[in-house]
Amino acid sequence: MVDQCPEYANLQHELQLTLQTLSDLTKAMLDAFRGNDRGAFARLDKELETTVGRKERVVGALRQHVKDHKCSGTDAA
Ligand SMILES: [Zn+2]
Repeated sequence: MVDQCPEYANLQHELQLTLQTLSDLTKAMLDAFRGNDRGAFARLDKELETTVGRKERVVGALRQHVKDHKCSGTDAA
């Protein structure tokens, strides 16, 4: 087992959390859509957009870090 770069591990953790949030929001939005709950649908749509933006930033930061630091973190990189 190779020592894992702590910064890479942080970003990886953040990406996992963000993807989990995306998944939860998507499911909630589907429920709102099926239930014809327009208020919840609109609110979740906004949240989902914000979270997609965050996902983009974390993925970008992860790529940039690997490029700058030359660390591959794990095999998943
Ligand atoms: Zn690193």
